[in-house]
Amino acid sequence: MCSGRSKVGSDVSTFDFRVTAAADILLIQMETGAGKKRIILLGATGSIGRSTLEVVENLASEMEIVALATGTRWEQMLEILKRHPARAVALTDPSAAEALRQSLGRDSAGGAGQPRVYSGAEGLVRMVEEAPAETVVGAISGAAGLPASVAALETGKDLALANKESMVCAGRILNRIARERGRSILPVDSEHSAIFQCLRSGRREEVRALILTASGGPFRSAPRERMARVTPEEALAHPTWRMGAKITIDSATLMNKALEIIEARWLFDLPGEKIRVVIHPQSIVHSMVEFVDGSTISQLGPPDMKVPIQYALTFPARRPLAVARLDLAEVGRLTFEPPDLERFPSLRMAYEVLEKGGTSAAAFNAANEVAVDLFLKRRIGFLRIYELVEHVLSAHNVVPDPTLEQIFQADRWARDEVNRIQA
Ligand code: NAD
Ligand code: MG
Repeated sequence: MCSGRSKVGSDVSTFDFRVTAAADILLIQMETGAGKKRIILLGATGSIGRSTLEVVENLASEMEIVALATGTRWEQMLEILKRHPARAVALTDPSAAEALRQSLGRDSAGGAGQPRVYSGAEGLVRMVEEAPAETVVGAISGAAGLPASVAALETGKDLALANKESMVCAGRILNRIARERGRSILPVDSEHSAIFQCLRSGRREEVRALILTASGGPFRSAPRERMARVTPEEALAHPTWRMGAKITIDSATLMNKALEIIEARWLFDLPGEKIRVVIHPQSIVHSMVEFVDGSTISQLGPPDMKVPIQYALTFPARRPLAVARLDLAEVGRLTFEPPDLERFPSLRMAYEVLEKGGTSAAAFNAANEVAVDLFLKRRIGFLRIYELVEHVLSAHNVVPDPTLEQIFQADRWARDEVNRIQA
């Protein structure tokens, strides 16, 4: 817990500090009439990336995209550049980067005024370091997003974070860098954005519990025999959210909620005992905070990621947003139920990870990433995901208080271990 304390005073929590830092920046921007907020968007072609582009288009008078990154989809990037003429672009796939370079060269008859194209995983990090910006939106999927999250904070940018795997693997380190550089990590994940908003109702010391809601995914009430036979197509059909493939499978296994428990532990600097999960199939209540006086504050709305994305970018202000409005009379019923830890052992594993600490979260996350990939390729069944992750968790030699390099090592070891036993 001490590690999460801010330097600005022993009675000020990291959370309070982040709020203050971000609010100060916004006020300075407003007072000085400084230009638009400059945004680096990582994972621009993905589900969160596309929603972020919409948010920025709607607030074009106060923010702009200055740099973009994606993995391989250079043709989609070319389209994005027409609407968002960024000064820099990174593609982690070198051949995709080359294809984009050539295409831009052709279109621009010489390349003047065209963005600089960075290539490879190192190129991505370099772009984040070099592009002048106030905020980086981290919307890459998986632990592949971690080096860029580190680079963003290290070079004095705020981090609007969708890439929960970054926080899961290296929450302690990211918090430390943010504190040292006086920057904020602003949650984009809808549950964490909800908690971030609810926390404004009280002081950190007054929090009794964070209550994360989970839709329960498509197999919420499926018997175990049925879960053993589900196909990738069935698991990809999420009842309430449209998202990238990896997080959609994570939502079906409830590994997503396990990752979110760990993410919340670091984002809000609270121990696992204070973080709970309740199943809420309608995905209207995005999460809650229970305070010591018996009040529970929640944030509600129809499921739409543009809301938490925009809040992370305009915080502490709120701006109008054209989204479906909540009509509770029409919704009629909001239901809640306890999670079934027998059918969904993922939640139990999350608390085990928090207890073990150190590199166990990176190993847990990496094992899950590989297992999800194997499931999507039809190489393993749905329930095998739990077995593989469980195996890695028990076989891993935890390094306490690891360096970033030790975190990357644990990640690599876990990937090799899953591939080895599954070969
Ligand atoms: P997605 O699969 O739709 O998009 C992922 C993006 O990351 C793509 O642009 C892809 O090109 C890029 N990418 C993937 N691997 C990369 C690599 N190695 N280097 C560089 N870029 C790479 O995923 P998504 O649903 O948008 O999710 C992105 C992140 O946001 C995930 O961490 C997810 O858990 C989190 N998140 C998503 C949602 C949602 O509603 N989609 C909600 C909460 C949190
Ligand atoms: Mg979420």
